[in-house]
Amino acid sequence: PPSVGGDLAELLDWADQFRRLRVRANADTPEDAAKARELGAEGIGLCRTEHMFFQGDRIWAMREMIMATTPEERRAALAKLEPMQREDFVGIFKAMAGFPVTIRTLDPPLHEFLPKHEEEIQAMAERLGVSPEAIRAKVQALTEANPMLGHRGCRLGITAPEITEMQARAIFTAALQCAAEGIEVHPEIMVPLVSDVRELMVQREIIDRVARQLFAEAGREIPYSIGTMIEVPRAALTASEIAREAEFFSFGTNDLTQMTYGISRDDAGRFLPYYLEHGIYPADPFQTLDRAGVGRLIEIARDGGRATRPAIKLGICGEHGGDPASIRFCHEVGLDYVSASPYRVPIARLAAAQAALGLREGDV
Ligand code: PEP
Ligand code: MG
Repeated sequence: PPSVGGDLAELLDWADQFRRLRVRANADTPEDAAKARELGAEGIGLCRTEHMFFQGDRIWAMREMIMATTPEERRAALAKLEPMQREDFVGIFKAMAGFPVTIRTLDPPLHEFLPKHEEEIQAMAERLGVSPEAIRAKVQALTEANPMLGHRGCRLGITAPEITEMQARAIFTAALQCAAEGIEVHPEIMVPLVSDVRELMVQREIIDRVARQLFAEAGREIPYSIGTMIEVPRAALTASEIAREAEFFSFGTNDLTQMTYGISRDDAGRFLPYYLEHGIYPADPFQTLDRAGVGRLIEIARDGGRATRPAIKLGICGEHGGDPASIRFCHEVGLDYVSASPYRVPIARLAAAQAALGLREGDV
């Protein structure tokens, strides 16, 4: 059940009085956002917009967009995606009224969205009115040797700026609609997989331009901020430059762990159990934050970010944001918030209070 009551609710209320870290949720749908609120989330730390397109028929429009070869084709596919996206943002803003909502621009590892099976290829061919061979050729052209290090994140928004434009329009139109209904909205737009400040400059320029246009048309302004994921080691190392363009950093410790260790997120299972059994690694670094490596990068990014922008907001939205030992680390290094999956929000609230009280597991 999504809600907490009785003694647990009382314990969590008590914990909330002591914790310093804010607790947000990772949620991609209005339903998850509502669940997260019931469980005490104080905002959304990560809305993965590509996840909005996994369900039902939406995946087909997403595939059309990814497989488009001209900007015109891409714009036509984006025009189908925009209303769905806008509607979901309205639902999420309403569920999180008064709280910040961090929406990440598209970050789809392409292989997750390409048609794979024969019937998907046939269906795609019918949709686009081309031959199955033409679809196979497109799939082959888009297949990457290493998709997690490939054409994803802001790289997509830079090579196809119309994607970022569509998303910015969907976010601000949804925010304006909510504001017109008297709902308080705090959109935070987050650019993924940044490794150089110039990537963020290019994306920021598009987002700010769309905001200016829509606010002028509506005769109303919505306060918003733009920030970035810190999930590539180079971003952590150049954080002082990136902070010129970012009002917040959110540590994407899934990718940051992958890239710091040089271990594929998707294939770690082949040898990690052996490493754990033999004590080579004390814990699974994808679950418990590695203070020596990933943790050091977080400290370096924190210091670099604050040197340029003392009030920069710092959070974490990788899986580690719901892990008690990692939450303790986030408290110790002075992050502002952790963001965890909705069902982990109560755990995060307790862990944040334990960290603030200096308690360790087994102390109570
Ligand atoms: C991350 O890399 O930690 C992150 C939150 O992004 P994703 O898991 O979507 O790559
Ligand atoms: Mg990531």
